[in-house]
Amino acid sequence: MGSHGPSGRLAGKNAIITGAAGGIGLETTILFAREGARVLMSDISQPALDRGLAKVLEIVPWCIKPATILCDVTKESEVAAMVDLVDTWGGVDVFFNNAGIMHAHDADAIETSEKVWDLTMAINVKGVWYGSKHAVLSMRRHGKKNGSVINTASVVALVGSATPQLAYTASKGAVLALTRELAIVHAREGFRFNALCPAPLNTPLLQDWLGGDEAKRHRREVHFPTGRFGEAIEQAQAVLFLASDESSFVNGTDFVVDGGMTRCYITPE
Ligand code: NAD
Repeated sequence: MGSHGPSGRLAGKNAIITGAAGGIGLETTILFAREGARVLMSDISQPALDRGLAKVLEIVPWCIKPATILCDVTKESEVAAMVDLVDTWGGVDVFFNNAGIMHAHDADAIETSEKVWDLTMAINVKGVWYGSKHAVLSMRRHGKKNGSVINTASVVALVGSATPQLAYTASKGAVLALTRELAIVHAREGFRFNALCPAPLNTPLLQDWLGGDEAKRHRREVHFPTGRFGEAIEQAQAVLFLASDESSFVNGTDFVVDGGMTRCYITPE
């Protein structure tokens, strides 16, 4: 892993990552820290944040030490408090709305309960709205001219699936639509909004759910031209690009990182 130190691709930028203790969130924290950003890691679990921070410091001990904060993204006051902290650093430059759930009891139109629907929408959609809103407010307060917000959707927002998780799919479709609109509304202020669309990955979110069920796993794996699920680090690399000024003319995209899955009809033997 190369060391870029204070002259890294995100040098001088303050970044907030929600769900930072999880698969994509932690890999992104490591890359952001490696590339010189000052990172605020947030999640709903303090022990998970502590473990995550220890891993970051093990891999990039010379980085600006990330701060950690508990934040449930469904609570606007907690999102605002998180942004308040970064305001003391000079305001938000990058906001990665990454926290999301795929509920074990999310199913089709008949079987999905209202409780699962509401919880999924609260975290995956309302949380992204709150993060986007408070990112904009902070960027404005600090006169930022090139902020970047990355909102995590999913390939299920782009292609249908016969293994339904209706609430999750609907929530990710909402993330695409709201991100596109935010991108247009705030473009003249210099604030970019892009939606990340990961394919199924080797992270606890999916792998815990699949467990040892080989048939369930194969049902998904067979659709990859690459023949494999993605890795969290492969998403993090895309987020780093979207966060950095290298992507200064990339705005309002559905940024698909899927090994070609959504572009494929029949996979290689
Ligand atoms: P993960 O479960 O490893 O991490 C998610 C993190 O979000 C966890 O640390 C969790 O504690 C946190 N979180 C959950 N509820 C929260 C809340 N209310 N407030 C704040 N934090 C909360 O998942 P991951 O695979 O790293 O997924 C990250 C994002 O990527 C999610 O939005 C997910 O929907 C999306 N995604 C994942 C996959 C995949 O296959 N893993 C595919 C497409 C999209």
